[in-house]
Amino acid sequence: MRRIDLRSDTVTLPTEEMLEAIRNAELGDDVYGEDPTVNQLEEMAAEKMGKEAAMLVPSGTMANLISLMANTRRGDSVILGVDSHIYRYEVGGVSVIADLLPILVKEKMGFMDPAEIEAAIQPVDLYRAPTTLICIENTHNRAGGVVITPQQIEQIRRVADEHNLRLYMDGARIFNAAVALKVDVKEFTRHVDNLMFCLSKGLSCPIGSIVVGSREFIDRARKIRKMLGGGMRQAGIIAAPGIIALEKMIDRLEEDHRNARLLAEGLAKIDGLKVDLRTVQTNIVMCDVDGLGVSAETFVERLKARGVLINSISSSRVRFVTHRGIESGDIKEALAIIEDEARKIRNERS
Ligand SMILES: *Cc1c(COP(=O)(O)O)cnc(C)c1O
Repeated sequence: MRRIDLRSDTVTLPTEEMLEAIRNAELGDDVYGEDPTVNQLEEMAAEKMGKEAAMLVPSGTMANLISLMANTRRGDSVILGVDSHIYRYEVGGVSVIADLLPILVKEKMGFMDPAEIEAAIQPVDLYRAPTTLICIENTHNRAGGVVITPQQIEQIRRVADEHNLRLYMDGARIFNAAVALKVDVKEFTRHVDNLMFCLSKGLSCPIGSIVVGSREFIDRARKIRKMLGGGMRQAGIIAAPGIIALEKMIDRLEEDHRNARLLAEGLAKIDGLKVDLRTVQTNIVMCDVDGLGVSAETFVERLKARGVLINSISSSRVRFVTHRGIESGDIKEALAIIEDEARKIRNERS
């Protein structure tokens, strides 16, 4: 049976050109700052993002953790979205390792209302953990891959400036946001102090994320990366496909967005499934299966048995992610299977 894997854009495999680049990469010891391929990638990333410096790390989770630590002091409080990846999916590193107190703000369509952020800032007094950082996520995963627009970020920036806070962006999929709005990625990055983005998702690299910010911030981040055990030696083998990703893999994200649209519109027509098409802005589709009368877990298992792989993200919601390797033909095939399986489920229950 053929598999159509829509669980995540992390399942993308490196291109032939990436494998070739790995084979031919010029290498050195990056802990000494001597891997020319890593240095080239970091310079490229900093320039693309309009910041002074950048640093390659093994994963998005480590990128976020290092950034939390480099932006704060232990015992500070940090404003996070209640549905943010940092809060929900990073094993509590924000508290366990970074020693920070999360102050949670609810997102609407992935966006935290600036007035609610302002209300959540802890006053400076004897009792409070001082708030020093706001974190946003773009695109916002649990909100369905929605784009936080440059104008929205600017509104949060104003609050940050008024209260002398730093603003950090978990930009794991920031290039999806830039491609969706057809604007330069700097439109998003210029309003934040620092950010991270992932090479290992839609950009198709096997490994890696990049932290970007001021020279001073990255110097601090480098020490923390070393402390966490993330100092890598001939990391050029990771950086080489990253260079190709930044040169050649960004524009094609548009294809993933078209496929997500196609998928979402098809799902919305199936009895028992609900999709909020307003949230389908990039490569993620969230779908409510409540109307079928089965749990999201059961739905995932039923589709898995038919070769369509997806993830459940709550008891009633499932997530589909499009990526390189999924063509429009695969979407049509997946939709036919899902329609058939949904019909079977409805018949069993009537
Ligand atoms: C995937 C993801 C991360 C973490 O990246 P890993 O490389 O899987 O650790 C962080 N934030 C968001 C929004 C993500 O989607």
